[in-house]
Amino acid sequence: MTAKTLTEASCADDYDPNSMPVDRARTLIRTYLEPVRAIERVPIRQALDRVLAGDVVSPIDVPGHDNSAMDGWAVRFGDLATGAATTLARIGESFAGRPHEGRVGAGETVRIFTGGVMPEGADTVVMQERASESGAGVTIEAGAVSRAGQNRRFAGEDLERGAVVFRRGQLLRPAEIGMLASLGIGEVGVYRRLRVAYFSTGDELVGIGQPLAKGEIYDSNRYTIGAMLARMHCDAIDLGVVRDQPDALERAFADAAANADVVITSGGVSVGEADYVKTLLDRLGEVVFWKIAMKPGRPLAYGRIGGAHFFGLPGNPVSVMVTFYQFVRDALAILQGRDGAEPVPTFAATLAAPLRKAPGRTEFQRGILARGADGRWTVRTTGDQGSGILSSMSQANCFIVLSTETGNLDAGSEVQVQPLEGLI
Ligand code: AMP
Ligand code: MG
Repeated sequence: MTAKTLTEASCADDYDPNSMPVDRARTLIRTYLEPVRAIERVPIRQALDRVLAGDVVSPIDVPGHDNSAMDGWAVRFGDLATGAATTLARIGESFAGRPHEGRVGAGETVRIFTGGVMPEGADTVVMQERASESGAGVTIEAGAVSRAGQNRRFAGEDLERGAVVFRRGQLLRPAEIGMLASLGIGEVGVYRRLRVAYFSTGDELVGIGQPLAKGEIYDSNRYTIGAMLARMHCDAIDLGVVRDQPDALERAFADAAANADVVITSGGVSVGEADYVKTLLDRLGEVVFWKIAMKPGRPLAYGRIGGAHFFGLPGNPVSVMVTFYQFVRDALAILQGRDGAEPVPTFAATLAAPLRKAPGRTEFQRGILARGADGRWTVRTTGDQGSGILSSMSQANCFIVLSTETGNLDAGSEVQVQPLEGLI
């Protein structure tokens, strides 16, 4: 059903797979993403971070009745003298949730509190600071209100019955959960969760709990990927470490694709390395290998294996995170059915120290963003930017996004930063 195949795309479009620009790769990946369509109904308590599968229409007016915006006195605007104080007779009270049942007649007033229903007959609320009560009654200062309807909230002012409150594709955050509750809606239809299978590749990888022999390292990518998938609210399927052996890899790819919407691997996508990965994937699916013109995260494979989307991330731990945030995260959001899922925006900050950068690739340097005494945001790098230095991601609170043509920069230069909070 796909309009074009990846191979066609790679022939038809004028890009160089050996230096694919970041934006180009992002756009290209988007053309292959079809959101999940299966729907499930969930109670709103369990709907946080899920995506609405249909529009939500308000079954009621919110607020349901005209009510007071403040503590004061409910009056008939026409009763108030112009340019002079007016004394009215107190006939009752309207508390939030406990309305005054009678009608306010000429010369009468009702003590009213914020959220209290406007009693019949009254049209305006005088704030309590502009009135005083004595034996004679309630005296409203001259000019205490300037127009009829003041300090009164109208029924349906927030939401009108029948109005579309949320559109399909809306991500449900705490505000939306609260609004659903305010409408009396206890259950909503959401898209099913994405299933994402992932594994690490490499003969040098050892699981936690085992001692390290010479040249071996602990597999950290699987843990980072698992954690990033948790932040993206996916059902993550951990398929462990797979050795750099064709049979083992073939089994792992087949198993992953059969059980998931998305397959993510790390390692083994560098060109020249383990060529059988490429051969294998050509046989199992349709996969292109790109060298993205970015640093870190240069080699990236994207395609389909069976019915699943496939992301072959580089092996270096920092590259894994950067490519996940710059490509996989957005792709997952689209597949989840989220509307308007855009890359996290960048904003301008001033470099607090010089920065080294060679023109030719987009760089995502790890940065520490801080607010100066003058209230302006300044940023410095975390230091050594090697793609194996995972501690740089931990120290960082942002990426410093440096465009292809950018070279070395002096302190004081303006750069674009992308906060990690919100990305992760
Ligand atoms: P590769 O892309 O497989 O050539 O790996 C590039 C670098 O990343 C090598 O130094 C690997 O040892 C390292 N690496 C690969 N996979 C992992 C992993 N799962 N955890 C930590 N480091 C890894
Ligand atoms: Mg490897």
